[in-house]
Amino acid sequence: MEKATRFSASLLAWFAEQGRDLPWRGSRDPYAIWVSEVMLQQTRVSQVIPYYERWMAALPSISALAESSLDQVLVLWEGLGYYQRAQNLHEAANILVAEYGGKLPETPGDLEQLPGIGRYTASAIASIAFGVDVLALDGNLRRVLSRLVDLRQDPRAAKAEQILREKGNQLLPKGKSAAFNQALMDLGAEICKPQNPVCEACPVSIHCLAFERGVQRERPIKVPRPSIPHYTIAAGIARRDGKVLIAQRPMDKLLGGLWEFPGGKCESGETLEDCLRREWQEELRVEIDPGQPVLVVNHAYTHFQITVHSFECVVRAGEPSPVEHVMVQWVDPGALTNYPMGKVDRLISQKLLTMQGSEGD
Ligand code: SF4
Repeated sequence: MEKATRFSASLLAWFAEQGRDLPWRGSRDPYAIWVSEVMLQQTRVSQVIPYYERWMAALPSISALAESSLDQVLVLWEGLGYYQRAQNLHEAANILVAEYGGKLPETPGDLEQLPGIGRYTASAIASIAFGVDVLALDGNLRRVLSRLVDLRQDPRAAKAEQILREKGNQLLPKGKSAAFNQALMDLGAEICKPQNPVCEACPVSIHCLAFERGVQRERPIKVPRPSIPHYTIAAGIARRDGKVLIAQRPMDKLLGGLWEFPGGKCESGETLEDCLRREWQEELRVEIDPGQPVLVVNHAYTHFQITVHSFECVVRAGEPSPVEHVMVQWVDPGALTNYPMGKVDRLISQKLLTMQGSEGD
C-alpha cells in the first residue's frame, strides 16, 4: 500500500472510532455546516456548541436567517465575539435568497464570493457539505502538518503555507475529503495538541518526522507576538424620564451594529471627564456634565486591551444626534436585553438594572 494511502487509512479508522461527537457532525445540511464553521472561526468548540444549538433552533434555514432582522441575529450572537461574522452571515443569507435560489454554491471559488467566507471556510463547506476534494487548512491542520513534515519555519509564512498545502494534498484521499479534513481537525484538537501532543496515542505517528526526531513540542516554530496596547475609555450614561441613552455602533467598525453607552478613547493627558465631554460633543453634538462613576470594566480583545470607566452624565445643552453612529435611542433599562451589546456594555447595562433594583428596595 502506498504511504499516503496507509496514512489516510490509519487516520480515517481512528476518526471513525474516536472522532468528536459534535452537534453539526453527521449533518450534510450545507447551512448547518456553514453556520458551525463561521462560529468556529477563532472560537473554541465548547464555547460554540450552545450558541450553535440556540441559533439553529431560532434560524433553522437560510431563508429564516434572511428574513430575520440584524438585531435578532446579533442578540443570538451576543457573547460569541467577532460580531462582523454575524453581520456577514445575515448579509450572505440575503444574497443567497436573492441570487442563488436560497442555496449555498458548491465550489470553493463560488463560496468565497460571499461575505465572511475566506479560503479556509469555503474549503471546509465545499468538502464537508458537498464532498469536493479540497484541503481545509485550519489552525489544527497547520499544526499537525507542520509536525508531520517537521517544518522549521513560521507556518504562516507564504513558503511554509505552500509546503503544508502540498503535503496535505498529497495525503488527501480522493472522494473522502469530508472525513479526512474533519479527522485532521479532531486529531489536532484531541491528540496533536498545541502544548503536549499525545504521540503515544497518535494513529499516524509512524508518518511523523517531528516525532521521529523528538522535536514535536518545538513544532510549529513559535513566532513572538507583538505586545498588545492598552487604551483607557470613558463611557457616559445619560438619563431622561427613567430611560437611558444608547447608540448603535457604525456597521463597518469593530462591534458594528451593536449598541453601546456612548464614549471613546482618552487622549494622552486628558482626564476621563474631559474625554467624555469631548466624545459626546464630537459624536452626539451635545454638551454634558459627567457625574457619579458607575462601573469600571477591563476587557481584552485580540489585538488590544481596554479599561472602560462609565459615568452618569447630564445633557446640559443640545439634543443627542448621531454623527457616526447608526442611531441613538432612549431605552428603559429593563428593555436593554433586547438590544445586542458587546461584553463591556452588557456589564454596564446589568449594573444599571441592579442599581435600579436596589433603588426600588
Ligand atoms: Fe502530532 Fe505526535 Fe502524531 Fe506527530 S506523532 S502528528 S506530533 S501527535
